[in-house]
Amino acid sequence: MKYNRSFNFSAGPAMMPESVLEEIRDEMMNYRGSGMCVMEMSHRSAAFQQIIDDAERDLRELMGIPDNYKVLFVQGGGTLQFAMVPMNLMKNGVACYIETGAWSKKAIAEAKKFGEVRVIASSADKNFSYIPDCSDLDIPDTCDYVYICENETIHGLTWNKLPNTKGHVLVADQSSMFLSRPCNVSDYGLIWAGVQKNVGPAGMAIVIIREDLIRDDLDSRVPTYLSYKTHADAGSLYNTPNCWAIYCCGKVFRYLKDMGGLEEMARRNEAKAKVIYDFLDSSALFKGAVARQDRSLMNIPFVTGDKDLDAAVVAAAKAAGFDNLKGHKSVGGLRASVYNAMPIEGAQALVDFLRDFEKNHQ
Ligand SMILES: *Cc1c(COP(=O)(O)O)cnc(C)c1O
Repeated sequence: MKYNRSFNFSAGPAMMPESVLEEIRDEMMNYRGSGMCVMEMSHRSAAFQQIIDDAERDLRELMGIPDNYKVLFVQGGGTLQFAMVPMNLMKNGVACYIETGAWSKKAIAEAKKFGEVRVIASSADKNFSYIPDCSDLDIPDTCDYVYICENETIHGLTWNKLPNTKGHVLVADQSSMFLSRPCNVSDYGLIWAGVQKNVGPAGMAIVIIREDLIRDDLDSRVPTYLSYKTHADAGSLYNTPNCWAIYCCGKVFRYLKDMGGLEEMARRNEAKAKVIYDFLDSSALFKGAVARQDRSLMNIPFVTGDKDLDAAVVAAAKAAGFDNLKGHKSVGGLRASVYNAMPIEGAQALVDFLRDFEKNHQ
């Protein structure tokens, strides 16, 4: 490999496309004749305005975002959205959440600070190994929104069919599957994603919000920065934004467009995940933990069933150039995160390694 980089299976921050890193390197000392690096640039400059405008335009094109949705670049990562969503969308003070793993649990705990939270479906009974049937949920009329985590990064499950919200607003945390497959934005009232999983550097979230959900009647104690209206009215430039992340994300949007867009990414991600799942399904040593129809294409947790052996696999993998395969501390085992930027060769090399490990272990 050209730069002696490892196959990095981190759940986030995660791999970026190599060609994007090269472009960033080439523009590091002097961005397109501006005489400075984007890191050194005023967020009020014409050059930066072009960067943020291009990023938004390319994202809109990639996802087919309708004109009645705003795109916001907000600091505070994913975690701040756990609070911003209820602070901004709880009008009646009632929201319905679907509990499918660690990240929806965190969202639930945070939302409880702001109003009444009803958990209307859960897969806690089987350790978050499946997506519950959400075709006929008990949703009160007063419900302000129904919330899902569309891809549970830690437990490794994903929604392949959205819940029936019976006309209520759907809110989705897409952090770990953002831009991994086509998305029909008008099915949602609000989509948000922390960008360090599948797009760019950490420290920012992208929020896609239907305009009628942006309120100007929030409690006056809501901090200015935490109102979506602040960001919508100021074109994400109310204060100094995360300029660097916006710049890098813009590069990735452009890259995804050049690769053929989200349908092409879905095709690649399916082929890549299949390499790993086919191996897990045939292995006598390694096992996946998630119901087949709900498996994530992005985060693939698996176990040997023996903690010490899991740790030995992680250590041997690391020595062989495969990084960050340790499962999250809350679930143990191993986890391979294979976002857009992971080449299929990485999945194939990992499977070759695991197959050899299994053979030598017998
Ligand atoms: C990583 C992650 C978050 C939290 O993101 P931070 O930027 O670390 O706050 C939230 N939701 C999901 C699904 C994630 O994967």
